[in-house]
Amino acid sequence: MKILSVNAGSSSLKFTLMKMPEEEVIASGLFEKIGLADSSYTIKYQGEKIKKECSLENHSVAVEKLIAELIDLNIIQTLDEIEGVGHRLVHGGQEFTSSVVLNEEVLEHVAKYNELAPLHNPANIMGVRAFMEKLPNTIQVGVFDTAFHTTMKEKEYIYPVPYEWYEKYQVRKYGFHGTSHRFIDMTIRKHLNNDNLKVISCHIGNGGSITAIDSGKVVDTSMGFTPLAGIMMGTRSGDIDASILEYMANKTGETLTQLTNDLNKKSGFLGVSGVSSDSRDIEAAVLQGNKRAILAQDIYSQKIANYIAMYNNLLNGADVIVFTAGLGENSPMMREKVMQKIASLGVKLDLSKNDFRGEFRKISTDDSKIPVFVIPTNEELMIAIDTMNFILNKN
Ligand code: AMP
Repeated sequence: MKILSVNAGSSSLKFTLMKMPEEEVIASGLFEKIGLADSSYTIKYQGEKIKKECSLENHSVAVEKLIAELIDLNIIQTLDEIEGVGHRLVHGGQEFTSSVVLNEEVLEHVAKYNELAPLHNPANIMGVRAFMEKLPNTIQVGVFDTAFHTTMKEKEYIYPVPYEWYEKYQVRKYGFHGTSHRFIDMTIRKHLNNDNLKVISCHIGNGGSITAIDSGKVVDTSMGFTPLAGIMMGTRSGDIDASILEYMANKTGETLTQLTNDLNKKSGFLGVSGVSSDSRDIEAAVLQGNKRAILAQDIYSQKIANYIAMYNNLLNGADVIVFTAGLGENSPMMREKVMQKIASLGVKLDLSKNDFRGEFRKISTDDSKIPVFVIPTNEELMIAIDTMNFILNKN
């Protein structure tokens, strides 16, 4: 069967058409600058990349173009061939603990969480509505970034602040990247043929989060009420002392909104190094002896190592550590730096196995106390699997 995995942003729409259950990518692509003057789209199919500039007034027009291209390129003959559409939805609050079949009523519930993810949820919902309009007879499934983390216990998700912040205003830890962490957990449990694994999943990309998982259930995760919390990231600070905000507001006259923007967009690798948010640029600067790039890398790897050590304690000893996402999959330098800093856990990197990018491999020595793997994440596949499961259960 053919399933579309969709990730709709405020001005973009990414898709992957998958053949399931074979897990093969048939075609993929990106619609960009939707609603803006210079919109365009790219479609990758059979090793070719097609790029077209065209006006895309809104998501509905983008979906219309997508469907027309799939037919024109003979990727599908009729719309019925698309048996399901799976959508990435960022925030499902406490309510959505797993993926769900979408309809208007469910979407209204999802919209309740727009306030908690204002940059993502309204755009995600817009994407869903566009597909519902163009493919009204096709099952639409929502896969939430937050859902995997809903197994956290109060002791992990309640912040030590006045309790009414939680009761009245829903201030709690939610966690993000759940679809990626769930994919990693599913994959490593399958690989090691053990359903009761205690996993530390390190999703280290431009955004980053670490998750402690026991027997398929999240125990704790490093992101929080928003994706600003946890480890240092490309442009995000991760955890800092909250008092810094008032102090800086008094010093600079910046508003809370501006300062929060600084923490989201001007901090992390970019803020500390002054070079770039991209770790490839940081690594190049480190090799040239740039002191602030070296400092940025040191802070970054230390924060990750600290979370791994903390979660090893929380899990009462992890069975496996996995690196994934942009840096986790592609940066031997960062993997080595992090692993040096968790040596006290008895974790040993096999240097001869670390020099590669983007593959599923074990990188620890055979006598490492905890085995360490690199696994390329695949959120699109996870979304397609969830969608397929709804279709199969339905039939
Ligand atoms: P993601 O958000 O998962 O797409 O990760 C994107 C980040 O991965 C980029 O900003 C880079 O910092 C990092 N990255 C990708 N490729 C490499 C590489 N070859 N070496 C080091 N870092 C990389």
